[in-house]
Amino acid sequence: MTRPRQAPRDAADAALQLSLPLFDALRRVDPAPLPGRRIVRLEQQIVEYQLTRSRRRTIGFLVDDRGLSVTAPRWVTLACIEQALVEKARWILRKLDEWRQHAARRERLAIQWEDGASLPLLGASLRMQRVSAARVAVHREDEVLWVGLPDDAGVEVFRDAVQHWVRRQALDLFEQRLAHFAGLLGQGPSRWGLSSARTRWGSCGPDGAIRLNWRLMFFPPHIVDYVVAHELAHLKELNHSRRFWDVVGQIYPDYAKARAWLRSYPDDLALN
Ligand SMILES: [Zn+2]
Repeated sequence: MTRPRQAPRDAADAALQLSLPLFDALRRVDPAPLPGRRIVRLEQQIVEYQLTRSRRRTIGFLVDDRGLSVTAPRWVTLACIEQALVEKARWILRKLDEWRQHAARRERLAIQWEDGASLPLLGASLRMQRVSAARVAVHREDEVLWVGLPDDAGVEVFRDAVQHWVRRQALDLFEQRLAHFAGLLGQGPSRWGLSSARTRWGSCGPDGAIRLNWRLMFFPPHIVDYVVAHELAHLKELNHSRRFWDVVGQIYPDYAKARAWLRSYPDDLALN
Protein backbone atom coordinates (compact mmCIF):
# COMPACT_ATOMS: atom_id res chain seq x y z
CA MET A 1 0.00 0.00 0.00
CA THR A 2 1.40 3.36 0.94
CA ARG A 3 4.99 3.02 0.04
CA PRO A 4 7.67 5.47 1.13
CA ARG A 5 9.83 6.67 -1.71
CA GLN A 6 13.01 5.13 -0.39
CA ALA A 7 14.01 2.94 2.47
CA PRO A 8 17.14 3.81 4.38
CA ARG A 9 19.30 0.97 5.61
CA ASP A 10 19.40 2.71 8.91
CA ALA A 11 17.21 5.60 9.86
CA ALA A 12 19.86 7.32 11.94
CA ASP A 13 22.32 7.09 9.06
CA ALA A 14 19.80 8.45 6.64
CA ALA A 15 18.94 11.38 8.87
CA LEU A 16 22.61 12.16 9.17
CA GLN A 17 23.20 11.96 5.45
CA LEU A 18 20.27 14.19 4.87
CA SER A 19 21.05 16.89 7.36
CA LEU A 20 24.80 17.34 7.25
CA PRO A 21 25.44 18.51 3.70
CA LEU A 22 22.52 20.88 3.84
CA PHE A 23 23.55 22.67 6.92
CA ASP A 24 27.02 22.92 5.42
CA ALA A 25 25.58 24.28 2.23
CA LEU A 26 23.90 27.13 4.04
CA ARG A 27 26.70 28.25 6.32
CA ARG A 28 26.62 31.98 6.75
CA VAL A 29 30.32 32.63 7.29
CA ASP A 30 32.78 32.13 4.47
CA PRO A 31 33.93 28.55 4.83
CA ALA A 32 36.74 26.69 3.16
CA PRO A 33 34.85 24.37 0.82
CA LEU A 34 35.18 20.62 1.19
CA PRO A 35 37.49 18.95 -1.33
CA GLY A 36 35.89 18.90 -4.78
CA ARG A 37 33.38 21.53 -3.77
CA ARG A 38 33.10 25.20 -4.64
CA ILE A 39 31.32 28.10 -3.09
CA VAL A 40 29.26 30.88 -4.58
CA ARG A 41 27.47 33.87 -3.07
CA LEU A 42 23.74 33.87 -3.87
CA GLU A 43 21.64 36.72 -2.49
CA GLN A 44 23.93 37.30 0.52
CA GLN A 45 24.22 33.60 1.26
CA ILE A 46 27.29 31.45 0.86
CA VAL A 47 26.25 28.29 -0.94
CA GLU A 48 28.51 25.32 -1.42
CA TYR A 49 28.13 23.16 -4.51
CA GLN A 50 29.61 20.16 -6.20
CA LEU A 51 30.82 20.82 -9.73
CA THR A 52 31.03 17.97 -12.22
CA ARG A 53 32.28 18.44 -15.76
CA SER A 54 30.53 16.45 -18.44
CA ARG A 55 29.85 16.16 -22.14
CA ARG A 56 26.41 17.65 -21.85
CA ARG A 57 25.78 20.86 -23.79
CA THR A 58 24.12 22.90 -21.09
CA ILE A 59 24.60 23.66 -17.42
CA GLY A 60 22.47 21.47 -15.17
CA PHE A 61 21.42 22.06 -11.57
CA LEU A 62 20.26 19.56 -9.00
CA VAL A 63 19.25 20.14 -5.40
CA ASP A 64 18.73 17.07 -3.27
CA ASP A 65 19.69 15.70 0.12
CA ARG A 66 23.36 16.24 -0.70
CA GLY A 67 22.89 19.92 -1.42
CA LEU A 68 23.51 21.66 -4.73
CA SER A 69 25.18 19.84 -7.62
CA VAL A 70 26.09 21.49 -10.89
CA THR A 71 26.98 19.72 -14.10
CA ALA A 72 28.59 21.77 -16.84
CA PRO A 73 30.36 21.22 -20.17
CA ARG A 74 34.14 21.27 -19.93
CA TRP A 75 34.49 24.41 -22.05
CA VAL A 76 32.27 26.61 -19.86
CA THR A 77 34.30 28.90 -17.61
CA LEU A 78 33.81 29.11 -13.89
CA ALA A 79 32.64 32.72 -14.28
CA CYS A 80 29.91 31.57 -16.66
CA ILE A 81 28.83 28.86 -14.28
CA GLU A 82 28.63 31.33 -11.41
CA GLN A 83 26.62 33.71 -13.55
CA ALA A 84 24.17 30.89 -14.30
CA LEU A 85 23.94 30.12 -10.59
CA VAL A 86 23.20 33.75 -9.79
CA GLU A 87 20.43 33.78 -12.38
CA LYS A 88 18.93 30.66 -10.81
CA ALA A 89 19.58 31.88 -7.25
CA ARG A 90 15.99 32.15 -6.14
CA TRP A 91 15.10 28.63 -7.25
CA ILE A 92 18.28 27.16 -5.75
CA LEU A 93 17.81 28.85 -2.38
CA ARG A 94 14.18 27.82 -2.22
CA LYS A 95 15.03 24.19 -2.98
CA LEU A 96 17.86 24.17 -0.43
CA ASP A 97 15.51 25.58 2.14
CA GLU A 98 12.91 22.91 1.39
CA TRP A 99 15.47 20.18 1.87
CA ARG A 100 16.73 21.77 5.07
CA GLN A 101 13.20 21.88 6.49
CA HIS A 102 12.68 18.31 5.43
CA ALA A 103 15.85 17.28 7.27
CA ALA A 104 14.83 19.23 10.36
CA ARG A 105 11.41 17.57 10.35
CA ARG A 106 13.01 14.17 10.17
CA GLU A 107 15.34 15.01 12.98
CA ARG A 108 12.40 16.03 15.13
CA LEU A 109 10.64 12.78 14.28
CA ALA A 110 13.58 10.51 15.00
CA ILE A 111 13.17 8.88 18.38
CA GLN A 112 16.07 9.07 20.79
CA TRP A 113 16.04 5.80 22.64
CA GLU A 114 17.29 7.16 25.92
CA ASP A 115 16.27 8.13 29.40
CA GLY A 116 14.20 11.32 29.48
CA ALA A 117 13.50 11.37 25.73
CA SER A 118 9.98 11.50 24.39
CA LEU A 119 8.11 8.74 22.63
CA PRO A 120 5.27 9.63 20.26
CA LEU A 121 2.41 7.20 20.76
CA LEU A 122 -0.99 7.43 19.08
CA GLY A 123 -0.97 11.20 19.06
CA ALA A 124 0.36 11.53 22.61
CA SER A 125 3.90 12.19 23.70
CA LEU A 126 5.21 10.00 26.49
CA ARG A 127 8.37 10.68 28.44
CA MET A 128 10.57 7.60 28.81
CA GLN A 129 11.88 7.39 32.35
CA ARG A 130 14.49 4.83 33.26
CA VAL A 131 14.45 3.31 36.72
CA SER A 132 16.57 0.69 38.37
CA ALA A 133 14.99 -2.78 38.48
CA ALA A 134 16.08 -6.39 38.93
CA ARG A 135 14.63 -7.33 35.53
CA VAL A 136 13.20 -5.55 32.48
CA ALA A 137 9.76 -4.12 33.20
CA VAL A 138 7.98 -1.41 31.22
CA HIS A 139 4.72 0.22 32.15
CA ARG A 140 2.83 3.37 31.35
CA GLU A 141 1.47 5.82 33.87
CA ASP A 142 -0.33 8.71 32.17
CA GLU A 143 2.31 10.48 30.07
CA VAL A 144 5.27 8.68 31.59
CA LEU A 145 6.66 5.39 30.36
CA TRP A 146 8.59 3.79 33.20
CA VAL A 147 11.41 1.65 31.91
CA GLY A 148 12.72 -0.62 34.64
CA LEU A 149 16.15 -2.01 33.78
CA PRO A 150 19.08 -3.59 35.60
CA ASP A 151 21.78 -1.01 36.25
CA ASP A 152 24.23 -2.58 33.81
CA ALA A 153 21.77 -2.57 30.89
CA GLY A 154 22.99 -0.54 27.92
CA VAL A 155 21.18 1.64 25.43
CA GLU A 156 20.22 -1.33 23.24
CA VAL A 157 18.46 -3.07 26.10
CA PHE A 158 16.61 0.17 26.78
CA ARG A 159 15.50 0.47 23.14
CA ASP A 160 14.51 -3.20 22.89
CA ALA A 161 12.49 -3.02 26.09
CA VAL A 162 10.51 0.00 24.90
CA GLN A 163 10.02 -1.38 21.39
CA HIS A 164 8.81 -4.68 22.83
CA TRP A 165 6.28 -2.76 24.91
CA VAL A 166 5.11 -0.75 21.88
CA ARG A 167 4.67 -3.98 19.89
CA ARG A 168 2.47 -5.43 22.61
CA GLN A 169 0.32 -2.30 22.57
CA ALA A 170 0.17 -2.62 18.78
CA LEU A 171 -1.07 -6.22 19.00
CA ASP A 172 -3.92 -5.19 21.29
CA LEU A 173 -4.92 -2.08 19.38
CA PHE A 174 -4.66 -3.53 15.86
CA GLU A 175 -6.67 -6.61 16.93
CA GLN A 176 -9.40 -4.28 18.17
CA ARG A 177 -9.40 -2.04 15.10
CA LEU A 178 -9.32 -5.01 12.72
CA ALA A 179 -12.39 -6.45 14.48
CA HIS A 180 -14.16 -3.09 14.26
CA PHE A 181 -13.55 -2.55 10.54
CA ALA A 182 -14.03 -6.23 9.67
CA GLY A 183 -17.49 -5.88 11.24
CA LEU A 184 -18.26 -2.96 8.94
CA LEU A 185 -16.86 -4.74 5.91
CA GLY A 186 -18.49 -8.06 6.68
CA GLN A 187 -15.21 -9.85 6.19
CA GLY A 188 -11.99 -10.33 8.19
CA PRO A 189 -8.45 -11.45 7.38
CA SER A 190 -7.52 -15.15 7.27
CA ARG A 191 -4.80 -14.21 9.74
CA TRP A 192 -2.80 -11.15 10.63
CA GLY A 193 0.49 -10.19 12.20
CA LEU A 194 2.84 -7.34 12.92
CA SER A 195 5.56 -6.34 10.53
CA SER A 196 8.60 -4.16 10.96
CA ALA A 197 9.10 -3.60 7.25
CA ARG A 198 11.15 -0.56 6.36
CA THR A 199 9.15 0.16 3.25
CA ARG A 200 5.51 -0.60 3.97
CA TRP A 201 2.98 0.46 6.53
CA GLY A 202 0.77 -2.52 5.82
CA SER A 203 0.05 -5.27 3.33
CA CYS A 204 -2.63 -7.73 2.34
CA GLY A 205 -1.84 -10.97 0.51
CA PRO A 206 -4.02 -12.90 -1.96
CA ASP A 207 -4.51 -15.48 0.81
CA GLY A 208 -6.24 -12.81 2.92
CA ALA A 209 -3.34 -12.41 5.36
CA ILE A 210 -2.80 -8.88 6.64
CA ARG A 211 0.39 -7.42 8.04
CA LEU A 212 0.50 -4.13 9.89
CA ASN A 213 3.64 -2.22 10.74
CA TRP A 214 4.02 -1.80 14.49
CA ARG A 215 5.61 1.62 13.89
CA LEU A 216 2.14 2.92 13.04
CA MET A 217 1.85 3.25 16.82
CA PHE A 218 3.94 6.41 16.57
CA PHE A 219 1.17 8.06 14.56
CA PRO A 220 -2.22 9.48 15.59
CA PRO A 221 -5.05 6.90 15.97
CA HIS A 222 -6.88 7.97 12.81
CA ILE A 223 -3.82 7.03 10.74
CA VAL A 224 -3.84 3.54 12.26
CA ASP A 225 -7.54 3.28 11.43
CA TYR A 226 -6.93 4.34 7.86
CA VAL A 227 -4.20 1.75 7.30
CA VAL A 228 -6.32 -1.00 8.91
CA ALA A 229 -9.34 -0.07 6.76
CA HIS A 230 -7.13 0.16 3.65
CA GLU A 231 -5.70 -3.33 4.11
CA LEU A 232 -9.07 -4.85 4.94
CA ALA A 233 -10.57 -3.28 1.81
CA HIS A 234 -7.98 -5.27 -0.17
CA LEU A 235 -9.86 -8.42 0.87
CA LYS A 236 -12.57 -7.27 -1.55
CA GLU A 237 -10.37 -5.57 -4.13
CA LEU A 238 -6.74 -6.60 -4.36
CA ASN A 239 -5.75 -3.49 -6.33
CA HIS A 240 -5.95 0.29 -6.09
CA SER A 241 -8.80 0.75 -8.55
CA ARG A 242 -11.73 3.13 -8.19
CA ARG A 243 -13.73 0.19 -6.84
CA PHE A 244 -11.09 -0.39 -4.17
CA TRP A 245 -11.32 3.23 -2.95
CA ASP A 246 -15.10 2.93 -2.87
CA VAL A 247 -14.75 -0.02 -0.50
CA VAL A 248 -12.32 1.96 1.68
CA GLY A 249 -14.79 4.85 1.71
CA GLN A 250 -17.61 2.59 2.83
CA ILE A 251 -15.79 1.60 6.03
CA TYR A 252 -13.59 4.69 6.52
CA PRO A 253 -15.24 7.68 4.80
CA ASP A 254 -12.57 10.24 5.73
CA TYR A 255 -9.74 8.32 4.07
CA ALA A 256 -8.51 11.13 1.80
CA LYS A 257 -7.17 13.21 4.67
CA ALA A 258 -5.38 10.30 6.33
CA ARG A 259 -3.97 9.22 3.01
CA ALA A 260 -2.56 12.69 2.36
CA TRP A 261 -1.12 12.84 5.86
CA LEU A 262 0.72 9.57 5.39
CA ARG A 263 1.96 10.66 1.99
CA SER A 264 3.38 13.92 3.30
CA TYR A 265 5.23 12.02 5.95
CA PRO A 266 8.99 12.32 5.40
CA ASP A 267 9.82 9.78 2.82
CA ASP A 268 10.63 6.80 4.95
CA LEU A 269 10.26 5.28 8.33
CA ALA A 270 12.56 7.72 10.05
CA LEU A 271 11.20 6.37 13.28
CA ASN A 272 13.09 3.24 14.18
ZN1 LIG B 1 -3.04 -0.86 -0.82
